[in-house]
Amino acid sequence: MNERQLDLPGMLDASSEGERQDGPVSASVGNCAELHVHLNGAIPASTIKNILADETTVLPRGFEITRDLLRLTPCKSLAAYLTPWQILRLFPRKRENLDRLCIAALANMAANGVRFVELRSSVLYLATLQKCSPTQALERLIESTRDAAERQNIRRGLILTVTRGDYGATALTALLQAYQDLGEPDDVVGLDLAGDEEMSYPAQLPSLFREAKDRFGLGITIHAGETGRAENVRSAIELFGTDRIGHGTAASKVPELMDLLAKEDVCVEVCPISNRLTGAVSSEEAHPLQEFRRHGVPFVICSDNPGIHQRGLVDDHSAAMAEGLSVGDLRHQFQVAKRYSFIEGLA
Ligand SMILES: [Zn+2]
Repeated sequence: MNERQLDLPGMLDASSEGERQDGPVSASVGNCAELHVHLNGAIPASTIKNILADETTVLPRGFEITRDLLRLTPCKSLAAYLTPWQILRLFPRKRENLDRLCIAALANMAANGVRFVELRSSVLYLATLQKCSPTQALERLIESTRDAAERQNIRRGLILTVTRGDYGATALTALLQAYQDLGEPDDVVGLDLAGDEEMSYPAQLPSLFREAKDRFGLGITIHAGETGRAENVRSAIELFGTDRIGHGTAASKVPELMDLLAKEDVCVEVCPISNRLTGAVSSEEAHPLQEFRRHGVPFVICSDNPGIHQRGLVDDHSAAMAEGLSVGDLRHQFQVAKRYSFIEGLA
């Protein structure tokens, strides 16, 4: 990846939804991989607005699209960063709009040079919106993302996201039942725990994650250490048996945790732009990715919610360079992502 490529506008607002972005942008982006991206955080704003209009969605009281849909500058809190999810959870109620958002999200990834992606989604909200069973919702998600990915010649796997809190174990059980009902499809490659890190979760949740890993061979990634709770990184490794950590920024301040990550070969999904916008890394401090490198902790550069940032993976690579990664480091990223991906048989 050369300097010219890093000058690219990363996020192409999909005015031509679903159209492959040919021309100078896609032609000049190198091979990239995306291991930490939320499907509903990857939808271009124009597509969101079109779907909201098509489904005549009633916005929550006080929510203003122009002010609240995108997160472009550092937020005062993680809660403020998450404001867009007040509406991102309200669609798609129509099956065809699931297709539509997948097509637009995958087109933008293709324009950013993404060759393979692990897409995260909380399937249960989709079942509620589309008034179908979790099994049907998972089947629809598999079909829509498969079609959208094939259009762009992208390999994709799905990661099923469970949210922290009292409902976590019930949700995971429902998701795994849906997965089994569909015959344990290869499309599903992993499990993710996300949500407010201050929240507790049911005592049996870690063992349920470990059992799913052992029984089905699913990869595990846990959002941990994003909001300063370094101990969540330790519990992700020691209790959940995680393979990767989402963000993990707090671990950089705890040498024993850095040693543990390196020793256990746990890959950190570093999302440089997201970390600045959420305040996980303040403007006064350097991003800890240099610390990860110094301690031999493997990491991959990811984009988290590129649609909401109006950026793309190319911009996260650019941000990582601004934090001290070299062109060579970024070239190596594709191989690192292959090594730690949950998708089998990557060429
Ligand atoms: Zn995330």
